[in-house]
Amino acid sequence: MALADKNIMNTYKRSPIALTKGKGTRLWDASGKEYLDFVAGIAVCNLGHSHPNVVKAIRKQLKNLMHVSNLYYTQPQAEVASLLTKYSFADKAFFCNSGAEANEAAIKLARKYAHEYLDADKFELITMKDSFHGRTMATITATGQEKFQFGFTPLLEGFTYAPFNDLVALESAITPKTCGIMLEPIQGEGGVIIPDEKYLAQVRNICNRHKILMIVDEVQTGIGRTGKLFAYEYSGIQPDIMTLAKALGNGFPVGAMLATHEIAKAFSPGNHASTFGGNLLAMAAAKATLKTMLDEGILENCQKMGDYFLTKLQALKAKHAIISGVRGKGLMLACALTIEGADIVKSCQERGLLINCTGGKTLRFVPPLIITQSDIDAAIAILDDVMEGK
Ligand SMILES: *Cc1c(COP(=O)(O)O)cnc(C)c1O
Repeated sequence: MALADKNIMNTYKRSPIALTKGKGTRLWDASGKEYLDFVAGIAVCNLGHSHPNVVKAIRKQLKNLMHVSNLYYTQPQAEVASLLTKYSFADKAFFCNSGAEANEAAIKLARKYAHEYLDADKFELITMKDSFHGRTMATITATGQEKFQFGFTPLLEGFTYAPFNDLVALESAITPKTCGIMLEPIQGEGGVIIPDEKYLAQVRNICNRHKILMIVDEVQTGIGRTGKLFAYEYSGIQPDIMTLAKALGNGFPVGAMLATHEIAKAFSPGNHASTFGGNLLAMAAAKATLKTMLDEGILENCQKMGDYFLTKLQALKAKHAIISGVRGKGLMLACALTIEGADIVKSCQERGLLINCTGGKTLRFVPPLIITQSDIDAAIAILDDVMEGK
């Protein structure tokens, strides 16, 4: 830890444990202590740590070929793209390495499409207050939270913000310069904020009426997190562009930006690129992750365990006055507190449960989607114990 603090830039507030091994829903630190992991690398390891299918796929690919660039064709990349388009609204995929990069690609595609097919003066995107879209200059601009932008001005031109889950404010934010609306189906970093059931469908409606693009950032909600492969599926609508990353490679870095054929046609060779995008190891991991998720009942387990966990959290709320609210969809859940959450996170960690706190007073639970009832019971028992007397 001293070695890390001396040599690594100070951009993360780390817990004082060094993790060395993971399997399923469990992690172990350097002293051999076991933890139940309800963070999953921040909604990344949706199949749990070291899932055998993913490990096997990466190993097999590693023996053959690791990287060749996008100057050539490779089979695994075509296969992942065809899986993603088969199971979503999209017709085309672009591969990159992270969520921020996927959103950068989406922003560029929306601007390019508007420039070529709508009106050269349309370049503005409306994003949501309390959203999170990444840490590059374009994506901190898209992120509707000043704390991520402070000290980094000037920001990019062409972004305006509307309050989440407010259709009237959203529609009145549209100007002749607007080319699209970009939003998370459920705000993750913003505190697991779930909009009204019909909200996404109504946003789609607004986009249709104004002939602008609808971009969904499913970097956190995608790949099964909410109990469907993509969270937009709950709304019965289809967006124009979708971004993915976090769980797509179950821990191997990979991102993707997907679009309909109509929108994707705005990109031609030279318009956008990524050296590592679609890397063969990343594609092997993504293919194994998607196949496992679809073939092994992971989504069903997520829905079932999500409902069970939510009921347990509601019972916890009835018992502890410091809980002001609980909410969640699938295994993306949160517990709003009347006090700062950092202390709870620390006490849970001491008792062998890893959880995350966002925005100071919201506990966020994003466990692997393979968790069992007894994992949830164990986590609830620790939370109950920790909250006793707070
Ligand atoms: C995590 C996250 C991002 C950023 O992803 P990185 O891989 O960290 O760049 C973007 N959007 C959402 C909704 C996220 O949760």
